[in-house]
Amino acid sequence: MLSAKEVLSKDRVGKKVEVRGWIYRTRSSGGIVFAVLRDATGIVQVTIKKGNVPEDQFAAATKAGIESSVIIAGEVAEDKRAPGGYEIRASKFLVVGDSEAFPITEYQSTELLLDLRHLWIRSREQTAISRIKASLLRGAREWYHENDYVEVTPPIITGVAPEGSTTLFQVKYYDRIVYLSQSAQFYLESLIYSLERVWALTPSFRAEKSRTPRHLSEYWHMEMEAAWVDNEGNMKVQEELVTAMVRNALKECPDEFKLLKRDIRSLKKIEPPFERMSYDEAMEYLQKKGHEISWGSDLGAVEERTLTIDREIPLFVVNYPKELKPFYMKENPDDPRTYKNSDLLAPEGFGEIIGGSERETDNALIMERLKEKCEDTKSYEWYLDLRKYGSVPHSGFGLGMERIVTWVCKLDHIRDATPYPRTVARVYP
Ligand code: ATP
Ligand code: MG
Repeated sequence: MLSAKEVLSKDRVGKKVEVRGWIYRTRSSGGIVFAVLRDATGIVQVTIKKGNVPEDQFAAATKAGIESSVIIAGEVAEDKRAPGGYEIRASKFLVVGDSEAFPITEYQSTELLLDLRHLWIRSREQTAISRIKASLLRGAREWYHENDYVEVTPPIITGVAPEGSTTLFQVKYYDRIVYLSQSAQFYLESLIYSLERVWALTPSFRAEKSRTPRHLSEYWHMEMEAAWVDNEGNMKVQEELVTAMVRNALKECPDEFKLLKRDIRSLKKIEPPFERMSYDEAMEYLQKKGHEISWGSDLGAVEERTLTIDREIPLFVVNYPKELKPFYMKENPDDPRTYKNSDLLAPEGFGEIIGGSERETDNALIMERLKEKCEDTKSYEWYLDLRKYGSVPHSGFGLGMERIVTWVCKLDHIRDATPYPRTVARVYP
């Protein structure tokens, strides 16, 4: 048994091969059926000629609809008109699973494709995106492994709200209400006292009520935390990690990028160091570009777009005003109105893919900020303990996997960066 990709080669010409997969396209004229077979590796054309296969198999080939699963044997021949330049001239055509009239045809509304997501994920675009996502992940895993980070498994059910209580999902937990994790950060922080460098890939949940093309209610969050690392060291990790991820995808997925018509010239240029721009400088730049904002305004999608539209390399924006960021970040001694933190903005207008910071180690400051935010300090007692027993400077960050996929694949909407997007309006299928 060969894969579709393996068939498409000069060495196969004249040889007998067997393939299996699903019918991607089919048409028949007179005594000949032209079918295109799809499998995990790609597509290959098959011609089934009356007389070259048993009569009942020819009848089956004529009848077999799109998405029928089939096993086909035949001889490979060169054919310039076929996708990939080769085709199989069939001597055997077996239907494994019939397909009813497939509900997805060429032009479909976005809504219908979301309703039929369980079938739409078979599309070649979705398949390419899944492969690129896996390749980015593999690049990250290898980088972490080479740099002595330990992969850990934090809980998803939790009582804390690292990113603030407004976007929490509550779940009934026996006779209490608890939350779905927004971030594993606090748990990762607790693990650095033994492992020093840790990372985790977990789902994060955020009740994002505003509908934007870059927010999901559930996303895969890749988080890292390391002892003895300051904010600058934290940014070094981010630029190396992102570079390793992108390079691995470029190496493993050239065909997938081609299929998505993603111009990879700019991705090829990505390498450390990434430019660092202070929040103050970003404000100045944005004001010059005509944005009506002032010190203290948050940077949303529109501002991040202006900052990155003419860039090919990601950009760090550092030292945000405290009001804009969560309570656990370390105060910036050079300007105590700000934190020692960074957002990493992907280029080409894309915007934030990572948020990171050095962490506050002063429990008095943490308590003060929690009280200001009216958080119930009781659930944070264990978190405060971490600063009582051998506290060390440390930093970490969170990278949204679907964000990086959306940027690297240059997708219009983050929902296509995951097989089953969860949004305000949708939990089906
Ligand atoms: P944004 O301002 O874009 O909403 P954030 O500041 O809330 O992001 P963080 O809390 O720093 O984000 O989370 C870390 C990373 O997780 C972000 O940089 C982003 O890549 C990703 N992320 C955050 N919220 C979402 C979401 N709703 N859907 C998908 N990815 C997200
Ligand atoms: Mg957010």
